[in-house]
Amino acid sequence: MTLTEKILARAAGKTSVQAGDNIWVNADVLMTHDVCGPGTIGVFKREFGQTAKVWDRNKIVIIPDHYIFTADSKSNRNVDILRDFSREQGIEYFYDVIDDSNGHWVFDAAKGNMKRQYGSRYAGVCHTALPAKGHTRPGEILFGTDSHTCMAGAFNQFATGIGNTDAGFVMGTGKLLIKVPETMHFRLEGKLQPGVMAKDIILHCIGEIGFDGATYRAMQFDGEGASNLSIDDRMTIANMAIEAGGKNAIFEFDSRTAEYVDARVKLNGTKSTYEPVARDKNEKFVYELVVDLSKLEPTVACHPDPGQRKKAKDMGDTKLDRAYVGSCTGGKTSDFVEFARVLRGKKVVIDTFGVPATPDIVNDLQSTYWGNSTIWQILVDAGVQMTENAGCAACLGGPVDTFGRINKSGIKCISATNRNFPGRMGDKESQVFLASPMTVAASALTGKVTDPREYLGN
Ligand code: SF4
Repeated sequence: MTLTEKILARAAGKTSVQAGDNIWVNADVLMTHDVCGPGTIGVFKREFGQTAKVWDRNKIVIIPDHYIFTADSKSNRNVDILRDFSREQGIEYFYDVIDDSNGHWVFDAAKGNMKRQYGSRYAGVCHTALPAKGHTRPGEILFGTDSHTCMAGAFNQFATGIGNTDAGFVMGTGKLLIKVPETMHFRLEGKLQPGVMAKDIILHCIGEIGFDGATYRAMQFDGEGASNLSIDDRMTIANMAIEAGGKNAIFEFDSRTAEYVDARVKLNGTKSTYEPVARDKNEKFVYELVVDLSKLEPTVACHPDPGQRKKAKDMGDTKLDRAYVGSCTGGKTSDFVEFARVLRGKKVVIDTFGVPATPDIVNDLQSTYWGNSTIWQILVDAGVQMTENAGCAACLGGPVDTFGRINKSGIKCISATNRNFPGRMGDKESQVFLASPMTVAASALTGKVTDPREYLGN
């Protein structure tokens, strides 16, 4: 069996499964957020009863993160719905925006959207927060009401996005019927060259197979090149499996996985035991691709979908209006470090926005010094508009007052986010080009798509 099949077989109580089997699996964690949480709760109450109790209050994680820092009252109300439900059900892992468990969330537009407006429990973007708060464990099954739930495949677990109806069912029963996906094999060899990042790996792979090339398939990444990647890098890659239509992504378990997971579960006091899965000799794949990481170059996915692959060095005539670094896939500390490495001591020439994925990342950037300046200050000095309000922000557009949202037609934006279908970041007539944080930085300095290797060593 492949890694994915092994996890699914175990969760179904079977000794083996194969692609195409329909099986009932037990969930280890169900995650939901402010956009889909109210709908999921509605399905749960409708189907199981107004006074029903969730299947396991310690296995449900609720993370408001999407439409948070907005004066839109319906969005604010969604956070209140999550709070009321969490209180009613005794759900401990509700990462509220405010500290008052009986209060109401209201964004204060008068304070502006740069200075932090959240309490001590707020965790930021769900997919980055889940592992950071110790909710991702090797060998487990994670369902989430968000397509980028696949990011947790970085931790050798089966993680996939589901709709509100399925999530309402999982909430009540802890089970879900799953068709075992076929597995595509991506063997990574060698090491990335300077100026090339994990984002370039996944943009390369999606470019090979197209934005629907992995539809309802598992994407398994392994090999020596995968072992060389940091946990943040693996998260970046796993996050974007869905951009090729993938059901899930999965990496092997190794000492890096163990070190990360063990530290995070200890920190947050979550379940500390887990059982990873290892590769079999006789895995069956439907597709194989060997990627020599040392040959990859800075890559861009052009408008209008993540499969429109080009090399940054061939796109110098593409003028840009805006640059953006943020989201679950591109707003991690390591992403901002590489962003700052290119921007340090220089000035951006187009509107450039930085949105850390979580409050912990804001703290990292504000407390890590390079010389006399923090990384945060280096970015601000370079002209980047940095917000302390960690969250999804303009990654998916959101209400019109969302920080960094594209509100004008015709804008071309280079972005370290993960999705660029028309209208994704706001206006339907805008264009989004996906790239690594380093490529975004170099492009912000010139106002056109630029290969970051031009700035290395300067
Ligand atoms: S940052 Fe973007 S991709 Fe990630 S969960 Fe939020 S909206 Fe989705």
